[in-house]
Parts: sequence; C-alpha cells; structure tokens
Amino acid sequence: MKIRGWVNNSNQGVNIHAEGEEIEEFYARLRAEIPPLAHILSSNWHEVALVGYEDFRIVTSEEAQGAKVLVSPDVAICSDCLADIRDPENRRFRYPFANCTNCGPRYTIIRDVPYDRPNTTMAAFPLCAECAAEYADPLDRRFHAQPVACGGCGPQVELLDSAGQILPGWGIDQLAAGNILAIKGLGGFHLVCDAGNPEAVNRLRARKERGAKPFAIMARNRGAALREVELSRVEVELLESPGAPIVIAERRSGESSRLASAIAPGMDTLGVMLPYTPLHHILFEGPYDFLVMTSANLSGEPLIYENSEALAGLRGIADYFLLHNRDIFHPCDDSVVRVIGGEVVYIRRARGYVPRPVEVSTPILRPMLAVGGELKNAFCLASRELAFMSQYLGDMEDYASFLRFQQELQSFQHVASIVPQAVAHDLHPNYQTTRFALDSSWPKVSVQHHHAHLVSVLGEHGAEQRVLGVICDGTGYGEDGRIWGFEFLYGNARGFERWAHLEYLPLPGGDAGAKKPLRIAYAYLKTLFSASEWASCEQLFGRASTKLPEDEMRWLDWQLQSGVQVFPTSSTGRLFDAVSALLGICTRVTYEGQAAMELEAAATIWARGQGIEAGQSQFNPVGLKQKYPVEIRPEQDGLSLGVHALFREMVDDILAGVEPGEIAYWFHRAVAEAIVETIVRLEYTGPVVLNGGVFQNKLLTERVMRLCQNQDIQVLRARRLPPGDGGLAYGQILIANEVLNKCV
Ligand code: ZN
Ligand code: ZN
Ligand code: FE
Repeated sequence: MKIRGWVNNSNQGVNIHAEGEEIEEFYARLRAEIPPLAHILSSNWHEVALVGYEDFRIVTSEEAQGAKVLVSPDVAICSDCLADIRDPENRRFRYPFANCTNCGPRYTIIRDVPYDRPNTTMAAFPLCAECAAEYADPLDRRFHAQPVACGGCGPQVELLDSAGQILPGWGIDQLAAGNILAIKGLGGFHLVCDAGNPEAVNRLRARKERGAKPFAIMARNRGAALREVELSRVEVELLESPGAPIVIAERRSGESSRLASAIAPGMDTLGVMLPYTPLHHILFEGPYDFLVMTSANLSGEPLIYENSEALAGLRGIADYFLLHNRDIFHPCDDSVVRVIGGEVVYIRRARGYVPRPVEVSTPILRPMLAVGGELKNAFCLASRELAFMSQYLGDMEDYASFLRFQQELQSFQHVASIVPQAVAHDLHPNYQTTRFALDSSWPKVSVQHHHAHLVSVLGEHGAEQRVLGVICDGTGYGEDGRIWGFEFLYGNARGFERWAHLEYLPLPGGDAGAKKPLRIAYAYLKTLFSASEWASCEQLFGRASTKLPEDEMRWLDWQLQSGVQVFPTSSTGRLFDAVSALLGICTRVTYEGQAAMELEAAATIWARGQGIEAGQSQFNPVGLKQKYPVEIRPEQDGLSLGVHALFREMVDDILAGVEPGEIAYWFHRAVAEAIVETIVRLEYTGPVVLNGGVFQNKLLTERVMRLCQNQDIQVLRARRLPPGDGGLAYGQILIANEVLNKCV
C-alpha cells in the first residue's frame, strides 16, 4: 500500500508509524487481514507529525519490561508446512516437527516469557545455518518462529518395543498389524491403535481398564470423518480450525460403520479429530483411515507427558513406544467441543485454546487466583482486564492430579505474568482445592458453586446486571450445607438470591453415591412414593436390567430411616442418574457422567428413529402422554420443583413395557418444560443464563432454547469456557473481586 515508516514491539504491544496516501484503508486492512494466529485485544491510532520516511522498516524492539504479550496456544499444522513435509524435494520432507510462524507448538513448550527460543524446551536444539537464515529473514514464513527446526537440527522420534529395543520406522507397520502404540504428541502421550480393528480396540479397552468410556478417534481427513459422523458447517470449521479439538458429532446410523463397536458403546455420538501435527500426518501414510487416540493416563490419574513416565507407566498397556526428545513443559489434553444450538460448547478446554485469556469488564484490582472446584478442574489467574484459565487438570480427588494442579499453578504464573495476591475457592469445605486455598497466606474468598456458574456466563458476555440463571449441575455445596444442583439463582457478581430449586431428595452415600445410580433411584422412589405406589413399583428392582440385591435394599431402607450417610440433594445430575438406572440404561457407572450421557443417547436414538429432530415441538404422537408432569409449588425458600408425579408416570410406563428410549426422550422434554415453566412462574422477563455441566446435554439444552425462544426469553450461555466445572474458576474470580473491592 506504499506505506512508509516503521513497526516495533513494546510493552504496550505493537507500534506502527505509518505515512502514506491510504492510511485509513491501511488501518482497516491491518485489523481485518491479520494472520491466522494473530489476536488483537485492542487497537487505536492518533495523528503525529510527518517525518518523511522513504521506506518501511522493522525496528528493534523496545525493552519490554512487564510486557503484556500474550502466549499463543498450540496450533495445528498449517497447509504450507503440510506441503513441505509431503514434498520429497523439500528439506523438511517427512520431518515430524516442521512448523512455522503460523503453526506448531507454543504453550506446551514455553517455560517462561518473553516467548523466545531460550525460554522454550526448543532451547536444547541449536539452529542449523539454514534454519537460522529462515528465522532471521522477515520475508520467510519462519521469520521469528521460535520452534523452527529441521531434520538436521531439531527433535527426532524414536520407536521402541516394550523391551526397550530401538526399531526402524514410525510404527506404521505395527499399527497396521493391530498393535497398541504409546505415542508422544504435542501435549502428552496418546494410546493409539487401528480404530477399524475390533480386536485391537478391545485389547486397549481391557488393558486400560477404562470401563465403557468412549474413545476419541482421529480420522485421516474430513472425507473419512464424514463417512462416520454427520457434520454441520460449524462442526467442520471446528475440526479444521487451528485449535483442532475433538468434536463430539452425531454418528451416522446404519451398518456401514468401519469402526470397532467397542469405541463408543451405548453412544449415538463419536468424538472425532483430524491430524494436527506433522507426525500424525506421517502416521496416516498407513493403510487405516481411523486411529483410536486416547489420552495416555492410568485410571483417574493425569496425562502422561514424559518419556520415562510413559515407559514405566504404560508397560503392559502399549506394545510399542513412539517417543521424541522435545520436552513438553505444560502437559495438555486434547480439547473436546460439541455444537449445541448451533454454537460451540467447550466440554474440555485445553490444547489449542489455553492460555488464551478471557476479558473481564470490571478490572481485577488485586491479582488473583481462583482454584476452581474438585472434578474436571481448571484454575484461573486474573489481573486488570484479563483472566487466564488453565488447561483441564482432571479430578482433584486423585492425588497425582492434585500435584499436577500445583505444578501447573507454579509455571502458569509465568505464562500469565500474574503473581496472585488473593485467592477464591469453592464453598465446599472438603475439596482439595479449598484446603489448598485455606492453607495459603493470601486473603481468601469463598464462593458458592452455582453462583460462580451463573457469574461465569455473565462475565463472558460482559454483562453486570442482575439476571436469572438456571444452573443444572452434578453437585455443588449449598449455602444451607446441602448438595445443590438444580438452581434458579437471581443475581450477579455482587450476590444472589435462590428463587427456585428441585425438591430435596435423599442421596445415600453423598457424592460417592453417584457411582451407584440404581441406589439413587431406589432412594428417590422409596421417599417420594406412598406405600401403595411403592408396592406396585418395588418389583422394578428385581428385574434383570435393574436388579438391586436384597441386602443392598435392606441396607438402603435402614439408611433412609436412620438418615446415616444420607445427604439431601437438589442435583440435576443425580436426577438424570436415577432415571437412567430406573430405565435399565445405565446401572453401573464406570466414568463420571456416564448414566446421564447414555440416557441422552438412548433418548436421541429413539427420537431419531421417530424422525423427531432435537428441540422440535410440533411432534405429538397419538396415544402417548405429551410429557411427564413436574409440579412447581411455592415453599418457604422459593418455588420447589416436585418430581413425584413425574416418577409415578414414568414407572407406569416402564411397567407397561414402553421402550426405555421413549421414556428417556419424554423425560428430557419434561425437564426442559419444567425449566421454562418455572421461569414464567417467577414472572421474570430478562435474559436467562443457562449453565452447569448438564448443559453439555444437547437434547435438553436445545429443547430449553426452543421453549425460551417461544416465550421470547433471551438465553445467555457459556461461549469460550466450559459450562461445567472447567469454567467455574472464572466466575469465582469475578465474585471474589467484588468482595475484595468492597473491603478496600
Ligand atoms: Zn506452518
Ligand atoms: Zn535446521
Ligand atoms: Fe458445577
């Protein structure tokens, strides 16, 4: 554009001095045509005196003390680098670590800021002359690409058998022969096998002791993925985006699937991703179109990311090991997303998104840490107008995961350039993270779990007014010491009122009881039903699919009578668990959320068989109940959602032999309608927040959104953070900030 002047980096960001005819056009295009990885937080311009430059130069950076230069997430290989590794003439032909300014590892290799090679795990690989020349040439795609490398100077892979013997090749033949490989990737190890080989998949499932938890797969390309799953335009964009997440997509029905059935038993969905590193593309030179790619960890423990750890921990699981010598500094699981209501919902936010910050509209005056919850934890560091969420760190009840949390907390402070001076934590006294916060020397603020879920969404939308939030969740410690989880909270970061909730029902064994959903069903029905109602339904617990041993029933009877180890709960998650078990869909939980996920899957499969689209409202089958009733009644502490009649009618249908999937479908509809009816009963007309882990349920969420649309109710949902506990810490930050500001 014939612009003259200069550009440099400073602690304010990028400065450009521009002189020319089309300055305004230049400024507009500069912001509109940014490179794929650029993310402009803010920009502005002002007029200065004309100097009369004759050319345009990149001038040396000003010393950037306390610079707010953001660290990039890791980025999937770009098309140019892909062309390089496929070109036999290119010096990076088949080089598994090719990258450039537009792609490659970032966050996972960064030890400290500023982001320069000596501060990354690439420091161990001095540049060869050719790479150094590319690095120094402003016209080269690899100009200032910190991880730049080639086969001559960069990291290398190594294939080992289980005895530690070095073998030639990439493991492609071994994969094709049905072996299980432990492969070191970008953020950690994967366990990998041919997804079309049932014997290999079964062996992996058995060795990993993974229960029924679905495996994610990597498809050779979009075309292959489309043979197995239906993909909307948004889903394709996500698959091919620089973040390259696992996309939970609807599985194609029919017999044509080439995938082993053990990949995702009981599910109507499949987690799919595309190759995102050069190494993945090289692996797909093999004769398979789909690979199982599951995080390599031991049951409940965090992701394995070091060679030595993998060789020791995965012996007996993996037949071969494909290692490399580039260290991973921040272990990062694959991110998982699902498109719900046409928009992306983060189920697990990690590789490809972290450490991208989320803006905060009320500045955080005192740099702060929020430690998050207990399950699916991610913490948050925030200062001024930016909040940085950590990657998914797993369940803190596992000690190794809790150590990983502490390790990442140390190193993440460098990445975010934030040293906390205060800490926010959950109200639950027994969370590992709560104890950690209480042991610290910082000022502490405790935050109610569902209040944080509400405020998290408000913050993401930059909203500060009081709104109604419908928080449907697994579990959270309530202000009355009970386990909350189906809450209608009205408020903002400054406080909340509880306007309505699911009636309290007895949860035997507390949160641990979630693993035995049949016990929950038993306890709920026994409590809700009259003696005569119970008499007619007791037989349910003797059926093959829902059998509860006699001694367990007597034990539960005693528990319910004495109240020992019985906790009243209003949890949505436990309601779904109970229904799932009662229908015989899932009576034994092998991973968190399984009963609810399989309930949704059964409902969706049935609805699809009837030609009903999720959320569709006109369907009104002959001879069927429109819905199961939820009773909304006023009580001392607000409206209470009663499920007595709901269970009674469901039990009638079960006894009448109605298909479980059909009952599951109408149950989803009943919950959705109860949510919207309650909003209407509360005579609330403002925007409504929908948040909490249950809103990862597509069938329920889309139905609620449809009903809200019919009532002209505006819906606010999580956009860049997970609706579940992976987004909790952000809400904690905003609430604690209000509390601390008040104290100042
Ligand atoms: Zn590239
Ligand atoms: Zn080189
Ligand atoms: Fe939660």
